[in-house]
Amino acid sequence: MKTSFIKEVQQQLSTSKNIVVIAHHNPDGDAIGSLLAMWGYLKKKYNTTAIVPNDFPEFYKWMPGADSIKIATKSKEECAELISNADMIFCLDFNSPDRVGGLEHDLKNSKATKVLIDHHLLPSDFFKIAHTQTETSSTAELVYDFIKAMGDEKLVDYNIAVAIYVGIITDTGSFSHSCNFPNTYKVTSKLIEKGIDAADIQRLVFCTFSEYRLRLLGYCLSEKLTIISKYSTAYIVITKEEMKRFHFKIGDSEGIVNYGLTMKNIKMAALFTERTGYTKVSLRSAGAIDVDKFARKHLSGAGHKNASGADMHKPLNESIEEFVSLLPLYEKELAKK
Ligand code: 5GP
Ligand code: MN
Repeated sequence: MKTSFIKEVQQQLSTSKNIVVIAHHNPDGDAIGSLLAMWGYLKKKYNTTAIVPNDFPEFYKWMPGADSIKIATKSKEECAELISNADMIFCLDFNSPDRVGGLEHDLKNSKATKVLIDHHLLPSDFFKIAHTQTETSSTAELVYDFIKAMGDEKLVDYNIAVAIYVGIITDTGSFSHSCNFPNTYKVTSKLIEKGIDAADIQRLVFCTFSEYRLRLLGYCLSEKLTIISKYSTAYIVITKEEMKRFHFKIGDSEGIVNYGLTMKNIKMAALFTERTGYTKVSLRSAGAIDVDKFARKHLSGAGHKNASGADMHKPLNESIEEFVSLLPLYEKELAKK
């Protein structure tokens, strides 16, 4: 982490009273992990509040401090006021102010100094002080690096360690992708030294399915998987009616998109979920196929090279048709062995 970045942050902190830490809309494990780790650190020294734009899945609610996170869809006025009165806002795990859902207007209008710590490509110039690093497992790992660069590694306690570990395992699929960086393992070993129980955290995040969630997964794999062999692509579709049938709760579709890529010749996988007024698409890819570029170029979405997403402002069937119609453009890349 550059010393110029740390110096700028330290300078701003020295004149700041109220600090807000915020992560992206539909927070995932890295959003919640990096948020709780940064909040856990900053609150030791400053008046700090953690905010998310909307609710997050049950399987992150056990995390120490999770019940202190303000959820804007539940307390909009309070969150808007906190953002408006903040001197500094740490923005974690997103690279553009339009990623905070209903808080976009409040974030844009706040006079606070916006600090970005993130691992996505192409950060918006909205952030006054920014550290973007794509060569890392997760934003949570970057939060550890940040605390260390601030000279405060000793302040990383058990709760912060748990939060960082959750961010790392959720963004790497438990060390199966985006995990080829020595620093990820150095940080992980420090977290273990803080007394975290890696196996227990794995169970709390990935093995607390409801019966409905497990049956939805089975149903998607047996009934809803379409394979387009010519383009080495597989996709799954979940309709609103199916969500109702399987008593869908936020987080229940997490991970389903990854199964397409577990087949030998599949290089791109997609999951379409029907929402009110739009279709949410999640994309995953193997190797050289760049689904961040794909989502940016065609779907007004973004993400990482091998994991991206977008909200398509079209009905479900039209969204799927559009996606399928784009595949011939990538015939050569998708056909490569
Ligand atoms: P997921 O498919 O798990 O929702 O998202 C995968 C990754 O794609 C996320 O880490 C995030 O970086 C990105 N992403 C997902 N949806 C959107 C979206 O609507 N807009 C943008 N810019 N990025 C997204
Ligand atoms: Mn992330």
